[in-house]
Amino acid sequence: MSYQSWYECVRGCGRKYSIYEVVYRCEECGGLLDVQHDTEALKDRSPAEWKQIFDRRSRTNEWPFGSGVWGKKEWVCPQLVDENIVSMYEGHSNSFWASKLGEEIGVEDLWIKLCGNSHTGSFKDLGMTVLVSVVQQMIADGKPIKAVACASTGDTSAALAAYAAAAGIQAIVLLPRGKVSIEQLIQPIANGATVLSLDTDFDGCMQIVQQLSADPSIYLANSMNSLRIEGQKTVAIELVQQFDWQVPDWIIIPCGNLGNVSALGKGLLLMKELGLIDRLPRIACAQAQNANPFYLSYETGFEEYSPVMAKPTLASAIQIGNPVSYERAVKALQACDGVVEQVTEDELANAAARADRTGSYACPHTGVALAALFKLVDRGVIEKDQRVIVISTAHGLKFSRFKVDYHQQELQAVLEQYPNPPIELPADYETVRNTIGDVGSKSNS
Ligand SMILES: *Cc1c(COP(=O)(O)O)cnc(C)c1O
Ligand SMILES: [Zn+2]
Repeated sequence: MSYQSWYECVRGCGRKYSIYEVVYRCEECGGLLDVQHDTEALKDRSPAEWKQIFDRRSRTNEWPFGSGVWGKKEWVCPQLVDENIVSMYEGHSNSFWASKLGEEIGVEDLWIKLCGNSHTGSFKDLGMTVLVSVVQQMIADGKPIKAVACASTGDTSAALAAYAAAAGIQAIVLLPRGKVSIEQLIQPIANGATVLSLDTDFDGCMQIVQQLSADPSIYLANSMNSLRIEGQKTVAIELVQQFDWQVPDWIIIPCGNLGNVSALGKGLLLMKELGLIDRLPRIACAQAQNANPFYLSYETGFEEYSPVMAKPTLASAIQIGNPVSYERAVKALQACDGVVEQVTEDELANAAARADRTGSYACPHTGVALAALFKLVDRGVIEKDQRVIVISTAHGLKFSRFKVDYHQQELQAVLEQYPNPPIELPADYETVRNTIGDVGSKSNS
């Protein structure tokens, strides 16, 4: 069985490139490149056969198929030699039935897919395993690549640094100074990457890394490189698989550079084309109001689009004013009858804290998605008997400062509704006993 994939210009000019070429934009017209698959060849297996293969591999440890991404290798990057794959068995992140939160808002079939339960704590691992594996293959084939580089809002750099270190390849990461969490900053430092902290924002770092990667020995790892989207699209397949191949009604996803929502749409469309599902879910893309170019474009029916200067947001991983995957995301939204919602700092912080009170540990971006959920339910766009899956993009433990500041009621532009600061007492039994009594009576009243 020989399956193939290649790059093809998204603007439809027809140019194709090998995925082993060092190329990020169409040399003909400047369009981004998408990975295409030979779907006619993939149809040699029936939908039932593909489901059976994917289900069987989900329970094995056989290299590399034990990974949630590489268990779908034929759909992701079929021609890669298995021994060049760089994987940490990413994927298989659990879906959490948020029954208590769902009960509170009247949506009983509410699930949160915890993509942050992953090696470096965010969904970025899904894409990075593919990109670094392709680089490993290129180096094995004699390409003179010396380093991989990215601009990042914190999670891409953590993933790149870890996968590059596992492969023994040098990583270079460009971070906007003071705009990533301390946990995100220390991850690439620990993994031995060259960490450059620049006095600019993400969009500024992106410009410089693009200039750096004009040197073909420095390979660009940002999501304009669509290899990452190939890995990330497995989230769509995996979440449907987790529901015994039933399609949910809604998927809500927080968006910045718009790579992940594009990937989600791509995975859904491939499943539909190959007959594994017969309908598409609706997608709700959630943005922070402080970084909302996609929302503003949606308001014009995607007729108009202009980049914005992104303002600071607690959801720092989506503080992006000029999203690279805009065109791809529009396609995904249009295919999936999508909507775009925006939320304020107050809304995202309180949504995360409210979810935490029901057993979650939501990062601020997941807070953005949850706040969008609350608004869409209030407006009746999402109906209460529908099955809703919220994509949680990172682990809350990567954003401790956000949590601490919330519970100390020190966040800007947020009126904290669920603060729960620790109670500081002398080490005295009576005082402790009396205080617990007070707490108990407070929660009973
Ligand atoms: C990268 C990231 C996003 C946004 O994904 P895009 O592909 O840039 O839209 C959302 N949340 C977290 C935690 C991220 O790391
Ligand atoms: Zn082109």
